[in-house]
Parts: sequence; C-alpha cells; structure tokens
Amino acid sequence: KSVVAIVGRPNVGKSTIFNRLVGERISIVEDIPGVTRDRIYAQGEWLTSTFNIIDTGGIEIGDEPLLMLMRQQAELAIDEADVIIFMVNGREGITAADEEVAKILFKSNKPVVLGVNKIDNPEMQDKIYEFYSLGFGEPYPISGSHGLGLGDLLDEVVKHFPENDAEDKDDDTIYFSLIGRPNVGKSSLVNALLNEERVIVSEIEGTTRDAIDTHLHKDDQDFVIIDTAGMRKRGKVYETTEKYSVLRALKAIERSDVVLVLIDAETGIREQDKKIAGYAHDAGRAIVIVVNKWDTIQSDEKAMKEFETKVRSHFQFLDYAPIVFLSAKTKKRLHTLMPMIKMASENHEKRIPTNVLNDVIMDALAMNPTPTMKGKRLKVLYATQVSIKPPSFVVFVNDPELMHFSYERFLENKIRDAFGFVGTPIKIFARRRQ
Ligand code: GDP
Repeated sequence: KSVVAIVGRPNVGKSTIFNRLVGERISIVEDIPGVTRDRIYAQGEWLTSTFNIIDTGGIEIGDEPLLMLMRQQAELAIDEADVIIFMVNGREGITAADEEVAKILFKSNKPVVLGVNKIDNPEMQDKIYEFYSLGFGEPYPISGSHGLGLGDLLDEVVKHFPENDAEDKDDDTIYFSLIGRPNVGKSSLVNALLNEERVIVSEIEGTTRDAIDTHLHKDDQDFVIIDTAGMRKRGKVYETTEKYSVLRALKAIERSDVVLVLIDAETGIREQDKKIAGYAHDAGRAIVIVVNKWDTIQSDEKAMKEFETKVRSHFQFLDYAPIVFLSAKTKKRLHTLMPMIKMASENHEKRIPTNVLNDVIMDALAMNPTPTMKGKRLKVLYATQVSIKPPSFVVFVNDPELMHFSYERFLENKIRDAFGFVGTPIKIFARRRQ
C-alpha cells in the first residue's frame, strides 16, 4: 500500500488535514504550535485508492530547535513515504523553515505535492502564487478548517502512487510522432529508423486503432515511435478523409514528447504543412523540422541555407525548432535525427533553478527598460519556472496589463539566449504580485 506523509512546520494545519483525510477526528488539534497529538499513522481513502498516511507533525517531541525538528520530519517522510504532501501556510507566506524543508525534499527526488493551507475563500487564491518559487510546481490551495480543495490535492497525490506509475508511461522513454501531409515520407522514415544500424526494435502490444507504437533503443536511450502513417500502409485503416487523418495526428501529438514535422524537399512547402505544424506548436510539444527527400536536391551548403531560409519564413512560429535535412530513401544524414530528437526532448523537460533564472531576468531588465502604459511602468519582481513539457515560467509583476507582448518576447529571447531550449516552445505568464 502506498504511504503518504504530511510535512510542514508547526501550526500550518497538518493535523487538521490529516483528520480530514482519514475522515475521523483522531488527533487533537489546537491552534498552538507544538501541541501533542495522539496518533500519527492512519489509513486514508480516495477514489479507488487506499493508502497509509503519516502526520509527521505528530512526532514532535521535546523542545528541539525548529529547524532541527523540520529536518527530522522531512527525513522521516522521505524514508517512509511514496508521496509527500508539503504543507505551508497561505496566510503567512514562505518562511525560512519552509525553505529549509523544501531543500531537503527537493534533494530526495520523491514526488512532492504542495498544499497551501488556510485559503478559506476564493478571494485568497492570489496568495498561492508565491509558493511556486518553492520549486514543486503547482501549489494546491486548501482549507483544512473548511474542508476545501482536498479533492484536487488528493487527485494529484494518487497520481504519483507507484501502482499507477506502472501504467503510466515510463519517464525516461522519449515518445515521438511524425506528422505531415500524405506522401511527405512518414512511413518511409519510420521504416528507415526501425532498420537503422544499432537500433533494437520491439513491437508494443495493445496498439490503438489510431497508431502503431514501436519501441526502439539506441545509444542508451529508449524511444517509442507513434506511427500513424503505418496504419494505412499495413492495410488496417485507410486515410480516407483529410479530417480523419488530422484527428489521428492530433491524438498522436497528444501522446508525444517530440513531434517531427515533415516537409517534402522535392515539392516544397505548402499551406497545409503550416497548418499541421501549428497543431504541434499549439500543443506545446518539442518540435524538430525534418526536410525529407533531400536526395532529390542538388545538395550543397548553399542549397541547405536557401531551403532553411524558406522554412524559417514559412514557419516563423517555429523559430525554436531545429531543422534536419535527410533522405528516408537513401538514408543520407539519417543518423543526425535521433540525437536531435533527444536534445529537443531534454530541453522540453529542462528545469532552471529559480536563482539562476532570476539572475538572467535581472540582467535583461537592466539591459532594456520595462514598458510604460498611461504613465505606469511595468515592475518585474521575480520569475520562477512552474512546469516542464514545455518549460513554463511565471513572471511576477506589479500589473500584468503592463506586460506588453514585445517585452514578453524580449524576456523569452533572453531566457533562450541563456538556457538554450532549442527544439521546445517555452511559455511565459505574467502574474500580479504587489
Ligand atoms: P507518407 O504518406 O507520408 O507515409 O509517405 P510515404 O512514406 O508513403 O512516401 C511517399 C512517397 O515518397 C513514396 O513513393 C516514397 O518512396 C517516397 N519517398 C519517401 N522518402 C523519400 C526520400 O527520402 N527520397 C525520395 N526520393 N523519395 C522518398
């Protein structure tokens, strides 16, 4: 059975939440820091999962210094738990003790779900944003005393249970799909990749109707090709209407880490190519542009540069995507593709530490003054990365209205200059913070 531990400094409301989760009043709760509890271990239930839950607050003994206590609690949780609920107090904001615990939890690599307690009404929702900077992603607003927000918190907790993990896709495996209009060479490229040297291929059972998944292993990396084109070629499903194939492409994109946008070098770029690429971009997937049939072009450096210029002007929204020129037919330059997929995927899930990110943001601010509107100047307080796939950043500002598109773009470029992010879109959100 999975074990959940609640960690947090005294008086953030751990025991109240603990009681709510186990559905009975079993520990004494008082609004006094360090009050003793009579039980620290119980069984909880959510949806189809039952789990054991530990209130680490219940083990505070004697009068040890706060930080020492917190460290012990966090270590216990890390040893015992499959998932850790890290509780903070939304009314008080981040304290030094919170930061101390965050540091320890961060190093453990255990899944941590951040619960911001004492958010008793929707008006207080704004208080949760500063907790993004603790580095555990989305903070879940909860109210122990009112019993609010626990459902969402638990949804997130059970997602991390090991039983469920087995069904989930393996985190180290890179899922990729190929999209592009009929005849750009999708099936040919899949076949070429599967027949590449030093690639170990195994079919994955239980393939859906929409695509054939094939596992391949190369250079110590696991990949899964989500192949929508192969269906047609294997005579199982016919690509009858344009609408149907788009639907299938969208489903494949949904499941991908990296999407290869195929372009036919022979026939050039068409309007349809742009539309198809737009889906992958909008979905926030990592993207590699593949110019196939490069064997049909009298290829030299100049031809490549020229074609690249064409691609860039047609796909301005994909300026972050690397371009690979290859031939599925002759396998020319085929070996350059897999490393590119890997790089794009790594960037897609890259995390930038908050302090490093803010150094870059502060440099950017110094370089280019923030815009003003109606005499009011944009103030940027700090930024933090809130999620990956794609990397997403929240920039805390005095007034989000003042964040002009062009300034957001400037910040994005500075972030890209500093950290690369080749092959992945990145997202920036401006949030209000006084
Ligand atoms: P799909 O509809 O995107 O799956 O495209 P196919 O893989 O069926 O390829 C369409 C046509 O293009 C076939 O006749 C292939 O032989 C041809 N083709 C695919 N890749 C290449 C390539 O790299 N060079 C050349 N010259 N032809 C190719």
